[in-house]
Amino acid sequence: MKENDIKNLVRPVVRSLRPYDAKEIPCKIKLDANESPFGFKGDIFRALKFLKTNRYPDPEAKELKIAIGRRYGISSENILVGNGSDELIYYIITTFGGPVLHPIPTFSMYGIIAQALGEKVIAIPLDRGFDIDLEKTLNAVEKEKPRLIFLSSPNNPTGNCFSAERIMKIIDASKGIVVVDEAYQPFSSEQGFLPLLRNYRNLVIMRTLSKIGLAALRVGFVIADAAIINEVNKVRLPFNVNSLSQAIAVAALKEKKQLSVFIKTIISERERLFSEMAEMNSITPYPSEANFILFKIKNPDDMYQALLRRDVLVRNLNDGIKGCLRVTVGTRQENSVFLKALRELS
Ligand code: PMP
Repeated sequence: MKENDIKNLVRPVVRSLRPYDAKEIPCKIKLDANESPFGFKGDIFRALKFLKTNRYPDPEAKELKIAIGRRYGISSENILVGNGSDELIYYIITTFGGPVLHPIPTFSMYGIIAQALGEKVIAIPLDRGFDIDLEKTLNAVEKEKPRLIFLSSPNNPTGNCFSAERIMKIIDASKGIVVVDEAYQPFSSEQGFLPLLRNYRNLVIMRTLSKIGLAALRVGFVIADAAIINEVNKVRLPFNVNSLSQAIAVAALKEKKQLSVFIKTIISERERLFSEMAEMNSITPYPSEANFILFKIKNPDDMYQALLRRDVLVRNLNDGIKGCLRVTVGTRQENSVFLKALRELS
């Protein structure tokens, strides 16, 4: 079989897809993927002593749901756990189908997964302040009747929270499901949408442990009305969260003090990064409620390469958001190296 024959066998919607850009680029200071610079200390691996390698994981992730429920004040019937929230985006779109509406720029997996599943995607540009364009969104809601709307707040890669009032208006107007993806909520000064869950049956909240020091585990979760959880659960693969991840995540969620220090440190470092970047003449950083900062610069491609030569890896977004790079908040020392390089190179 020739390579072209294989291409011709692929479903047309997949043929035209571009894979998610997540390559390992070897580098000392890794500030490209919105991970936490802090791993857990102490014996969060103790639970692995009891792990039976010959047995499948708990298919319902019962203990993990209890641990998540305890942390967020919700009950297990309102939680579904995934192999990262990426997997849950897949399940949600598989369950409800499209059209799928999302603002742009935003986290690219909503569009990639919708397209892979053959669903129509409606991408509405954000306004100049990176907030939701309410008029255009409400028009599209009325005209296209999206079955799903994905709103990342704080938004990746712009870093801001969308106006809560605008999100509320969209939830009110939508006859479909609205997923508020709160992957970066731990770093935000706003309270988020969890307290509103009880009032809105079409509201789904998505969270992840990836940004708070556990990216290696691949654990994300959805919080929603039990009726929604039960439907999405029908398309879940039987053993989607492995035993190691379940056990370590349960132990890590008990480490409240460490978690809170990680988050506080990241927020204060983000503020330091922002104010030092704002003082540089040729750089415009955008205010962030997340663990990263988007910034505009004259020659983003050159700067990206120059930083890389100094062993500092950031994300080049120049393709999607003209002139922009994104830097993840690292440790104090990593941030200082980044700032020094940026100052010297700009
Ligand atoms: N949502 C948003 C907004 C993200 O930025 C990311 C990670 N980049 C994810 C979800 C995926 O997170 P996870 O690691 O849980 O799959």
